Amino acid sequence: MTIEPTAQQAAALFESVYGGAPAGLWAAPGRVNVIGEHTDYNAGFVLPMAIDKYTVAAAAPRRDGVLRMVSTAGGGSAVEIALDQLTPGNPRGWTRYPAGVAWALGGAGVLPQTFGGADIAFASEVPVGSGLSSSAALECSTGLALAGVAGANISPAELARLAQYAENAYAGIPCGPLDQLASAFGADGAVLFIDTRTFSINVYPFDLADAGLTLLVINTRVSHDNAESGYQDRRTTCEKAAEVLGVAALRDLTSADLPQARAQLDEKAFRRVRHVVTEDDRVERFVNLLNLGPLTGPRLNAAGELLTASHVSLRDDYEVSCAELDTVVDAALRGGAHGARMTGGGFGGSAIALVSQDRVDKVSEAVLAALPQAEIFQAVAARGAHRFA
Ligand code: ADP
Ligand code: MG
Repeated sequence: MTIEPTAQQAAALFESVYGGAPAGLWAAPGRVNVIGEHTDYNAGFVLPMAIDKYTVAAAAPRRDGVLRMVSTAGGGSAVEIALDQLTPGNPRGWTRYPAGVAWALGGAGVLPQTFGGADIAFASEVPVGSGLSSSAALECSTGLALAGVAGANISPAELARLAQYAENAYAGIPCGPLDQLASAFGADGAVLFIDTRTFSINVYPFDLADAGLTLLVINTRVSHDNAESGYQDRRTTCEKAAEVLGVAALRDLTSADLPQARAQLDEKAFRRVRHVVTEDDRVERFVNLLNLGPLTGPRLNAAGELLTASHVSLRDDYEVSCAELDTVVDAALRGGAHGARMTGGGFGGSAIALVSQDRVDKVSEAVLAALPQAEIFQAVAARGAHRFA
């Protein structure tokens, strides 16, 4: 897969809507989270990789203080807003993400006072609303494009932080930092072991092909209405539980603290806590396996078991899976996957399966027999946000 076709689409959209050629093209990828789900707002561990599906922003500077945005996926004509009108809640719809990034970069002083606005056209290969972080890809491509046309510099860390801030404070979605960190920092052939308390990032080679493996992404193409309220509810439960248990974040607990937590919390809150604590532990175990060498033999079995245990915990303790995700995970395992789990926030979206290359067809067949609408592709760990041209 290459960025080229998406870049051409973005450039073509730019020319047809705004006339003239863009000043540059900036790309940011979607991601899959290998393991570590719902831990990023608990100051815990995550292990995502950027995938080789990108959102490309074609952009050029303006001089009149106006921001214009159009997307191949947005429908209709360009949305226009004056920079001095940017305020959370305005505009609504998909443009709140890029508008929020302009607002966040302006507020942080990344864009100079003299910034005159921009025209931006987006094209994307990241499936929208499928748990693969099209929103972070949109935000990170916007952040680079705006900094680029303004002649300003932005580091990957600033980009991730301000993109998350835009999604939280402007678009109104209380996401953790996982998606934006993955899109900003992704590296070719690597996973990112991120401590979301310190934002320290360790890059681990993830050469699945060398071990005869691949990571299948299974998009269920469903997204349930309870996703937003469910997410908010889990977050609130975690924050309250941390308070009751006297820790800054659930990350500060270990499995040795679970009996005490069970005594102090109601049954549901306890299961939420148990998911977060055991999930942090699974991320560390998974990273330990990567440290030991390629995923073959007993290491492969252990890695697969961790993925599947993560799914079971998300399904039973955290209750953020859904019938379609459970169906494709079970089918992938029956078809011979070493391990499988939902990835992303849940309530629909995508699952991943760790599969030997010679089992890809069998696993895909089993998944499609169980959920014919599923869309399956092989994830390739790819470079994070960058200027493409
Ligand atoms: P995910 O990030 O998992 O794909 P989200 O619900 O977080 O799902 O983000 C999806 C939303 O982001 C879409 O509903 C849309 O508003 C916006 N979005 C993402 N990519 C694009 C794009 N290329 N063009 C227009 N809007 C987009
Ligand atoms: Mg998102």
